[in-house]
Amino acid sequence: MQEQKRSWAEPYKIKSVELLKMTTREDRVRALHEAGYNTFLLKSDDVYIDLLTDSGTNAMSEYQWAGMMMGDEAYAGSRNYYNLEQKVQKYYGYKYLVPTHQGRGAEHLISKILIRPGNTIAGNMYFTTTRLHQELAGGTFVDVIIDEAHDSTSTHPFKGNIDLKKLEALINKVGAKNIPYVSAAATVNLAGGQPISLENLRAVRALCKQHGIKVILDATRAIENAWFIKNREKGCENRSIADILLETCSYTDGCTMSGKKDLLVNIGGFLALNDWDVFEEARNLTVVYEGLHTYGGLAGRDMEAMARGIEEAVQEDHIRARVGQVEYVGERLKKLGIPIVLPIGGHAVFLDARKFLPHLKQDQFPAQALAAELYLESGIRAMERGIVSAGRNKETGDHNYPKLELVRLTFPRRVYTQAHCDVLVESVEALYSRRNKITGLKMIYEPKYLRFFQARFEPLK
Ligand SMILES: *Cc1c(COP(=O)(O)O)cnc(C)c1O
Repeated sequence: MQEQKRSWAEPYKIKSVELLKMTTREDRVRALHEAGYNTFLLKSDDVYIDLLTDSGTNAMSEYQWAGMMMGDEAYAGSRNYYNLEQKVQKYYGYKYLVPTHQGRGAEHLISKILIRPGNTIAGNMYFTTTRLHQELAGGTFVDVIIDEAHDSTSTHPFKGNIDLKKLEALINKVGAKNIPYVSAAATVNLAGGQPISLENLRAVRALCKQHGIKVILDATRAIENAWFIKNREKGCENRSIADILLETCSYTDGCTMSGKKDLLVNIGGFLALNDWDVFEEARNLTVVYEGLHTYGGLAGRDMEAMARGIEEAVQEDHIRARVGQVEYVGERLKKLGIPIVLPIGGHAVFLDARKFLPHLKQDQFPAQALAAELYLESGIRAMERGIVSAGRNKETGDHNYPKLELVRLTFPRRVYTQAHCDVLVESVEALYSRRNKITGLKMIYEPKYLRFFQARFEPLK
């Protein structure tokens, strides 16, 4: 196919721009020093290309902005709620909708409703907020993802798949009645944006049905997941993204959603359900925690932007360019021999800091040091996902030493151009050629909780 040989090129043109501050190396040395060598503590104004996260950092279209002006800010029964409900029904296929301020709002509601103290929730690798809400509701999360997901060198096409043997063993061990639902994510964020296959979801559904266990989807990046299914799963190459998304959701009883990712907005989320009883309870609990059930903590205009975001997010041209941009960067880095996690995920490229800086010991914080150096080199902001993020062992007080020591380059949707990507690749290449000279860091301030957000460092002599 001729089209395949062509560049992924952005399916939009630019109408309004946000100017970036261009900094000098001197500026960046000062800013990084003030930030304690932690990219979370940099001011956004001092950053040139911001690859910290893809959450809420998306660029909205003129169609979405026009929708913002159509916000119906009535307290109850806003027209934007009904539009969002209709789009969720059409594209995700669920019957009932509860809007929430963002993904974790939906996770809070569903965990409270379905989980009883002592319950076990099985899932394909945990996500931070999802697991926390399950635990706060009295549940225990058990990871049943396939082993390949934990291996940065495995090129399995669906590293987000659930291991059916692990799931079955868990059901036999704790009993089906103690597992309220399987928590299935598409794609799996913490495995590097890796997809789950339709075949796997179908089998999970069948097994759960036998035992009367529900399946709740984390649909945050289910559209990116559909793109991988279209490209990697047998028999799906000619199907539309919308069609694959509908089938994905059809194997589940409901979903939690962070609209800040797939749905091209800056804030918003929802809980969608098929079961009337569960919906009724969710709708009632929303009033306590989020807001009335027809706005769930969102302004009417935010619901409209998200409804319109769904329509745009399932377009083939959009998702091809979205994942295409991430792949473009990943493929270029791979060709240069720079160590990255494979296969390249849907929303981020991960540098393998262990292989990049083999002369540093893990307690010299190689990924933190690499993220800091990348900022110094070119003003690009990335995030550490290694020993700093892993925190300390509760019993021994020593660092946890995770297998993966990574720097995450996360791509906001529709924000940066290919030339920005080229600057990124050139900057990483420059670091790679002087990698022997990159020194480790010493932690000089360590907060008690989630230390990666606020810890401070200085370079080792
Ligand atoms: C971001 C995210 C969430 C939580 O959503 P928020 O909108 O940040 O509350 C849940 N699951 C996954 C996979 C996510 O990436």
